Amino acid sequence: MPELPEVETVVKALKGHGLLKEKIKKTEVFCPSLIVPFSSKEFESILKEQPFKSITRRGKFIIFSFDSSWFLLIHLKMSGRFFLKSQNEELKKHEHILFHLSSGKVLCFHDTRKFGKLILTKNPEEILRKLGPEPLSKDWKKEEFYHALKKSKKSLKTTLLDQSFLAGLGNIYVDECLWRAQLHPLRKAFSLTKKEAMSLHGAIQETLKKGLKYKGTSLGKGAPNFHQVNGQIGSHQNHLWVYGREDLPCLRCQNTVRKMFLNGRGTHFCPTCQLILKSSERKSSS
Ligand SMILES: [Zn+2]
Repeated sequence: MPELPEVETVVKALKGHGLLKEKIKKTEVFCPSLIVPFSSKEFESILKEQPFKSITRRGKFIIFSFDSSWFLLIHLKMSGRFFLKSQNEELKKHEHILFHLSSGKVLCFHDTRKFGKLILTKNPEEILRKLGPEPLSKDWKKEEFYHALKKSKKSLKTTLLDQSFLAGLGNIYVDECLWRAQLHPLRKAFSLTKKEAMSLHGAIQETLKKGLKYKGTSLGKGAPNFHQVNGQIGSHQNHLWVYGREDLPCLRCQNTVRKMFLNGRGTHFCPTCQLILKSSERKSSS
C-alpha cells in the first residue's frame, strides 16, 4: 500500500506536471464505488469547470482543493494511481475515473484492485482531524512523541500503524523504522525509555526521507503496487534495510532476519539487534 513517501511523490509529480494551472473541463466515472458520497452524475456535475487551487498531502491522503471550496480527498489504498494521458488515447482496463483538463490532457485514476477512495467534501477536516501528527513536520516534537508512546499499551508495530497516533506510516516503513532504531516490533510502546523514543523519532524521519529520496517503494508479485505519475516505479525497494529480507543476513549484525505475522501483517525484524527487552534489562542480562 502506498505510504507517506509514495503519496508525497505523487503529489510532487502532479504539481510538477502543472496541474495547478489546469481546470477540470469534464469528469467521467466508470466505477462509481470508488467515489464517496455522491452519485457519478453529481460528482461529474460538481467538478465541472473547477480550477485546481492546491494539491497537498495529509497522512496517506492526496488533497485537491478547488476555488469553489470543494475538496477532493484521495486515498490510493492498495493499488490506486494517477497518470496523465492525451485525449485521443483509448480507455484501458482499470482506468476508472478520467478528469479531462483544460490543456487537453487527461488525468486518469487507475486502480487494479478498486479499493481506492475519492471523497468529495466541503469539510475535509471531518476526516483529516482524526489523523495523528505529520512525522516530517517541524511541529512533530520529540517530547510529545515520547509522551504519546507512554500512553499506548499496544506493541510498537501496532501503535505506529495507527493513523490516529501518527499519520502516514504503513507496514513497510514501520518495519524499516523499528530496525533502524533497534526496537522489537512487539515491544510495548509505553515501555520505551526517553532515549529510545528520541532515537525512534529520528529513525522515523530518516526512513521516510530515504523513501522520498528514492521516489517510493514498488513491490508486489506481477504488477508493482506503486507507480509514479510518469508510469515509472520507485526504487526504494532496492534499498530496504529489513522489509522483505526474511532468511537473509541482517545488514547490521549479519544474523538472520526473521518474519512473523502480527495482526495478519508480515513483520520483518532482526532478533539479534532488535531485542524485546528494555534497555535496562538488556544491560543486566548481558
Ligand atoms: Zn541484526
